[in-house]
Amino acid sequence: MEHSDKKIIIITAPSGAGKTSITRYLMHRFPKLAFSVSAATRNPRGNEKDGVDYHFITEDDFKQNIRQNEFVEWEMVYEGKYYGTLKSELIRIWQENKIPVLDIDVKGAIHVQQLYPNSSLSLFIETPSVDELKKRLLSRGTESSETLTARINKAAYELSFKEQFNKHIVNDDLQRACTETQLIVKDFINA
Ligand code: 5GP
Repeated sequence: MEHSDKKIIIITAPSGAGKTSITRYLMHRFPKLAFSVSAATRNPRGNEKDGVDYHFITEDDFKQNIRQNEFVEWEMVYEGKYYGTLKSELIRIWQENKIPVLDIDVKGAIHVQQLYPNSSLSLFIETPSVDELKKRLLSRGTESSETLTARINKAAYELSFKEQFNKHIVNDDLQRACTETQLIVKDFINA
């Protein structure tokens, strides 16, 4: 895709490490950033809105988007559930003269980083421990016991990739982690 000189911020983490909270914090701090809304085939949770949190689409539509080459990257993040970054999202954001922020899984993040090696900032958010992650997912209350186990196993695997990212932020305390991330992003976007 063109626009190879345009900046991108990639935020990744094992699920439950707090990357969504940190991403929201950044979006409020820096008007120059715009959230890249992914396409996903899972059902909306709680207050999630179509077109805001995700473009919630059917598996058939998702597969058609794959065939039409509309994704920068896509992954089956959980069994049978597809998530992908749309080229149209990045283009829309760059055309608004903003910097897209991608909240995506570790494999997707590695992929995007390889596509934009010189213009991306990749941040890996981690919890202090896998036990702590389990506590957080339980307190969020959105997981069944199967999805909880799947997320924990995946988290342990994903942690092994952390060295591939530009910066690591340990989310031991959300406010502290937000401030640390804010400074890194400020430097990257020259805000
Ligand atoms: P959740 O279902 O909890 O919203 O998200 C599950 C995981 O999918 C999270 O790690 C989230 O960052 C990741 N994810 C969301 N959008 C994308 C995407 O477009 N591509 C990839 N590879 N992962 C995504």
